[in-house]
Amino acid sequence: MDELSVPIQSLQPVWHNYRVTALDILRLDMLHPIISGNKWYKLKYNLQAALNSGSPALLTFGGGYSNHLAATAYACHLHQLPAVGIVRGNYPVLTPTLLQCRQWGMELRFVSSTDYQRKNEPGFIAHYFPDLEAAFMVPEGGDNELGRRGASLIAQMIPSKYSHIVVSCGTGTTLAGIRQGKYLASSVAASLTPEQNTNWTLHDDWHFGGFGKHTPELIQLMNNFFTVNGIELDVVYTAKMMAGLSHLLQSGYFRPSDRILCIHTGGLQGNASVANQLIWQQ
Ligand SMILES: *Cc1c(COP(=O)(O)O)cnc(C)c1O
Repeated sequence: MDELSVPIQSLQPVWHNYRVTALDILRLDMLHPIISGNKWYKLKYNLQAALNSGSPALLTFGGGYSNHLAATAYACHLHQLPAVGIVRGNYPVLTPTLLQCRQWGMELRFVSSTDYQRKNEPGFIAHYFPDLEAAFMVPEGGDNELGRRGASLIAQMIPSKYSHIVVSCGTGTTLAGIRQGKYLASSVAASLTPEQNTNWTLHDDWHFGGFGKHTPELIQLMNNFFTVNGIELDVVYTAKMMAGLSHLLQSGYFRPSDRILCIHTGGLQGNASVANQLIWQQ
């Protein structure tokens, strides 16, 4: 699939008592089974820069369930670029995600959660991993200018008829990139500074207990959504986005004239830890 022609599909309502003109989904999850969804775009220019830099390896960061680590491991494997992942915390037993990373040749280095918090400080690598100083560094989640530039490509696939774009957020790189892309494409861009262009809202009530946490209700939403739409959601991000969206729809947040586009940012590899509860994995 071409990275600029990902399909948009309409969703069948799983929820009742709302009316909007369109409720569609951009299926970035269909782009690639492993370098999935938004990670493909955030890695694109980082990977090119790493290859052009002649660095001996690409170095990046993530937790035990990180889609970013998995996508990076696989992308580097494809390009035969050695990859190192700095992992938050210690995993005497590797998670399914970390096992995959290692299978694709990523070298894993573990640091305590406390030390991990200091990963963006200058001298972190020199102090903890002096042998990795020459590696090309990509921040956690691909959260840098190259990542945002890649994510801004997603905006090219979003027709201007939509009144709302709904996307799940981790570092916010994807949100920032899409906004950057839409902003540049907009006819009023010439007369607005980016600071004036503030029409976005963060709904942060839908974390279900925190990153990587979930509840039986969330699993049920994923199974219902699959039954009705035939689309798999991931337990870390897109299921929570749908939970939040369903609440907004039912609480009258949207007007009947609104056209909503949800972004399926992928991340389905992260479902390995809840596979036995998902109807499509039975
Ligand atoms: C990583 C990820 C996100 C978060 O993206 P950010 O750019 O860090 O905000 C959202 N959804 C899925 C499925 C992801 O894997």
